[in-house]
Amino acid sequence: MTMSIPDPYALGRGGLAALLDDQPRYRAEQVHRWLVRGVDDPTEMTDLPRSLRARLMELLPPPPVLLRHTSADGGLTRKVLLGFPASHGLDPLRSGLEIAPRSLQAGVESRADAVEIESVLMCYPARQDRAGRATVCVSTQAGCAMGCPFCATGQAGLRGQLSVGQVVRQVTVMQRLLSQGAVDVPGVPDHVTNVVFMGMGEPLANLDVTIAAVRWLHDPDGFDLSARSITVSTVGLVPGIRRLGELGLPITLAVSLHAPDDELRDDLVPVNRQHPLAELLAAARQYSDRSGRRLTFEYVLIDGINAGVDQARRLASRLRGFGAHVNLIPMNATPAVPWRAPPVPVQLAFLAALTDAGVTATIRHNRGGAIDAACGQLYADYAMASGRTLPAAVGAAERLSTQGSTRLVMAPTQGSAGPAMAPPS
Ligand code: SF4
Repeated sequence: MTMSIPDPYALGRGGLAALLDDQPRYRAEQVHRWLVRGVDDPTEMTDLPRSLRARLMELLPPPPVLLRHTSADGGLTRKVLLGFPASHGLDPLRSGLEIAPRSLQAGVESRADAVEIESVLMCYPARQDRAGRATVCVSTQAGCAMGCPFCATGQAGLRGQLSVGQVVRQVTVMQRLLSQGAVDVPGVPDHVTNVVFMGMGEPLANLDVTIAAVRWLHDPDGFDLSARSITVSTVGLVPGIRRLGELGLPITLAVSLHAPDDELRDDLVPVNRQHPLAELLAAARQYSDRSGRRLTFEYVLIDGINAGVDQARRLASRLRGFGAHVNLIPMNATPAVPWRAPPVPVQLAFLAALTDAGVTATIRHNRGGAIDAACGQLYADYAMASGRTLPAAVGAAERLSTQGSTRLVMAPTQGSAGPAMAPPS
């Protein structure tokens, strides 16, 4: 699909100047300055002549529509579901998808109508020992093709790639909420301080856009965020990790592992079949060496699947010497599979096994559990309430229920309230 309306966040100064080639050169500069401040609505570009503002209204895509806005944790967590109109240019086949293995590209749904995207704002008030933070978690794809069975986004399938503007605007929407005082809690900054690429989608499967968005956020003439305030997560697309390393920016890389060995990871993170753990960890180490940044590993704890003490020990032996930090994330319930987070004592035992083995780790409690703040859950809820299905969820449930392997048969830990999956016959 060709974009009919230019994405101003992808144009850059030169592109804006070309778009406004009948205007004095400084007009493009003025528009650029508004954009980098997060103002993308021409009616608010008050130093432009009224006629130019009207023209920009026709030239540039309209701002996204706020479909849902929910709040939790005493207002410190905000989640929005943004609707971008078709003219904004959702492009399911743009470059970047080829980095994802071909087997994972099946089922990409090309849609020309509106696209819904989730973003989360997490605020941390200042404390004596720490400045306040306002972190935006952005999506890079509408849905995801990676098919991790425990994830609500994966269960909804991939609906398309986001554009640079669609990624950056998720930050500008939150910037506005903050600057308008929507989070009225002492010690919370009035601007975005950190951005994590951990929302819907696999950022490195939309690599060109992710890199362009990172540049926008980091550019001293742009949002001017320190690269150290930006985190890009990946489920393990090794070519993308290498390209990210070539940027030479000290961006934090967060690698989602979720299993200590290839056998289990092949099922929990299907891309592992293309890029197994040894290859992934080597690429991650190389990234860390080049960027000088400490790695973060993410590990979703699923009761009876990957949360045993033996598994923690095997994970520790893999990660020893990395100097990395492991975030343990108790699983959020999703529509398609009956898996649950382990009981707290099991989580603590897993944590202790890691730390006893010399691996730094913490249990990260999901912000906003009451508002479906985990990746993809707000969309899943919205889609089903709108009468849509989650196509990949059906596939995941069927695949797991017919697995010949006993590894993916639920074996709830003693005391778990989570339902068991029936053993395969
Ligand atoms: S966990 Fe990440 S990579 Fe896997 S399906 Fe969900 S969004 Fe995609």
